[in-house]
Amino acid sequence: MNLFEKIQSQGHEQVVFCNNPQTGLRAVIALHSTVLGPAIGGIRIFPYASEQEAIDDVLRLSKAMTYKASLAGLNLGGGNAVIIGDSGVKSEALFRSFGRYIQSLNGRFIGGADMSTNVEDINNIHLETEWVLGSSVNKGGSGNPAPMTAFGVYHGIRACLEIVFGNPNVRGKKIAIQGVGAVGFEVARYLHEAGAKLLYYDISSRHLKRAMEHFPGTVIESSFYKTDCDVLAPCAVGGIINQRTIPRIQAPIIAGAANNQLEEESIDAQLLKEKGILYATDYAVNAGGLISVSAELTGHSKQKTLEDVANIFDSVKKIFNLSEQENISTVAAADKIAKNRIQSIATLAGFFL
Ligand code: NAD
Repeated sequence: MNLFEKIQSQGHEQVVFCNNPQTGLRAVIALHSTVLGPAIGGIRIFPYASEQEAIDDVLRLSKAMTYKASLAGLNLGGGNAVIIGDSGVKSEALFRSFGRYIQSLNGRFIGGADMSTNVEDINNIHLETEWVLGSSVNKGGSGNPAPMTAFGVYHGIRACLEIVFGNPNVRGKKIAIQGVGAVGFEVARYLHEAGAKLLYYDISSRHLKRAMEHFPGTVIESSFYKTDCDVLAPCAVGGIINQRTIPRIQAPIIAGAANNQLEEESIDAQLLKEKGILYATDYAVNAGGLISVSAELTGHSKQKTLEDVANIFDSVKKIFNLSEQENISTVAAADKIAKNRIQSIATLAGFFL
């Protein structure tokens, strides 16, 4: 498929190629949708094996951001940026040149830190454009999104418990967390404080030790998937729910922070539905960080942001209700809600403008 066909089939509005030989910048910015507002998304640096791989990644990530922002009720669209290279490409000049590209989009794209970019990099971009979030220069910056992401995951888990057990209370519930890094550790904090029985699985013994010291639980020594528990909370990597792992899963609920948890989204979501496992769509549950970052734009108070993130509870229930009504997977239901909101606003184009 050629590039224009690909962009058209996925519904992207614009793709910007950024090339600056002086600084070594080779980057792609994809704006999937600006129907609900400026396209928001991460700026990641990755040593893609090919230009095609970089383009595919930025197209996929930007589309996912559109759905995530829409479902979270934000007045924002979806975009993403990738800078091709390893972290060795980083320099003030590279980020400033990239900042000029962002500035040229005049607010249609708003970027933030992502894989391999940090506050220092964002500060350098911010020297050239105001359309970047998370710089330490911005007073009232939203800071590390992980705790807010975790707060949303906690409410997503509560919603699932209510659906499956008729009560959102986590007290006494056995919850297995895969990955106790930035987000998983904070998820453990909320669940521990609410009285859950925690089980941990992580490839980092340091992270496991830290979780056990702060929020005592049980370390899973064998398979995470086979764990006898009420909830599996994937908070590590994507692609872990698939045709190989689904047959092993005992838990009635999967709800966690990790992005792209399903390896083959529509197939795996349907398999989970058929097996009677409630899958809380990842992008619905892990939107807390995005909601909190977007408060930098809206100026919402901390209290309002906490309320918005806690609304993930209602969002998860709404998705489940639609999936039951229409006998579709929770992923299909979440996509439908996200798309419907965009379509309803898209019809306003030209209205009194
Ligand atoms: P992190 O790197 O801080 O933590 C990941 C943890 O998972 C680490 O402890 C790591 O040792 C562990 N891990 C890695 N591979 C593993 C494996 N195969 N099995 C078990 N454990 C493994 O990352 P994070 O910021 O906590 O993000 C976790 C997930 O949540 C990612 O998928 C990320 O995309 C997603 N997410 C994060 C945020 C955020 O605010 N940080 C927001 C939305 C989604």
